[in-house]
Amino acid sequence: MPELPEVATVVRGLRETVLGARITSVVLNAPPKSIELSRSFKSDGFDRVITGKEIIDVSRRGKNILLALSGDTTLWVHLKMTGHFFFHRQDKPVDKHDLVLFDLKLPDNGTASLRFNDYRRFGRLRLYPDDELWLQKGLRELGPEPLKITAGDFVGLCKGSRRMIKPALLDQSFIAGLGNIYTDESLYAARIHPKRLTSSVSKKKLIELHAHIQRILRTAIRKMGTSVDSYSSVNGQPGQYQKYLKAYNNEGSPCRICGRPIVREKIGSRSAHFCPRCQRA
Ligand SMILES: [Zn+2]
Repeated sequence: MPELPEVATVVRGLRETVLGARITSVVLNAPPKSIELSRSFKSDGFDRVITGKEIIDVSRRGKNILLALSGDTTLWVHLKMTGHFFFHRQDKPVDKHDLVLFDLKLPDNGTASLRFNDYRRFGRLRLYPDDELWLQKGLRELGPEPLKITAGDFVGLCKGSRRMIKPALLDQSFIAGLGNIYTDESLYAARIHPKRLTSSVSKKKLIELHAHIQRILRTAIRKMGTSVDSYSSVNGQPGQYQKYLKAYNNEGSPCRICGRPIVREKIGSRSAHFCPRCQRA
C-alpha cells in the first residue's frame, strides 16, 4: 500500500501536471463503493459537481491526497492498495482498470486526461465542501505528520501510551502516513523490537527513532517511493527506494549489522520484518 513517500510522490506529480487545469468532463466506470459524496452533493452526483471546476491546489495529509477545487470543494482521494493517478493524452485508450476519467483543459490550453486506475478497487474518491472536509472520519482523527513532529513531541507521544510500538506507528491516529514498509525500516535502523511497548523505550532511543523516521522518509521521497508491488508515479515511473530496504521484504536475508537472517512475524494483524538479535525484545 502506498505510504507517505509514495503519496508525496503522487502529489508532486499531480502538482507538476494538473495544477490550474479545468475539469471539462468526467466518465465514471467506478463501482459505487469507490465514490463517496457529501449529502449536499447527492442530488447532483459526482460528475455534475466536479465538471467545470478548476484544480487549484494538490496537497497531502497522512496517506490522503487532497485536490482543492474551485467552488470551495475538495476531491479527497485515498489510494488504498492499488489506486493510481495517471496523466495521459486524451486519446490514450482506456484501460479496464481506469475507474474515473477526468478530461482536462490545461492552463496552456492543451488537453489531457487524468485517470484514476485501481485494479483491486479499494481506493476511494470522496467529494466534500471544504467546510465539511475535516469533520470526516479518515481525516479528522489523523495524528501528527512524521516529518513535522518535533523530537520532543514524538517522545511525549510515545511515553504517553503503553502499546506495542509497531502497531502504534501504523495507527494513523497516532502518527499519520507510516505503513508497513517505513515502520519496519525505521525500527530496524533504531534497533527497536517491534513489540516493545512505546512507554518502555528510553527517551534516547525514541529521539534516535524520530531521526531515523525522518531521514528514511526524506530519502524515500527523494527516490520517488518504494515499488514492491504496483505503485508508480503519475507518469508511470516506479519508485527506487526498494533498493535500499534493509528489513521490509528481506525475510531470510542476512542482517546488514550481525549477519543473522531477518525474520517475519505477525504482530497484531500485520507482519513485521526485523532482526531478532539487533532488535531485542
Ligand atoms: Zn542483526
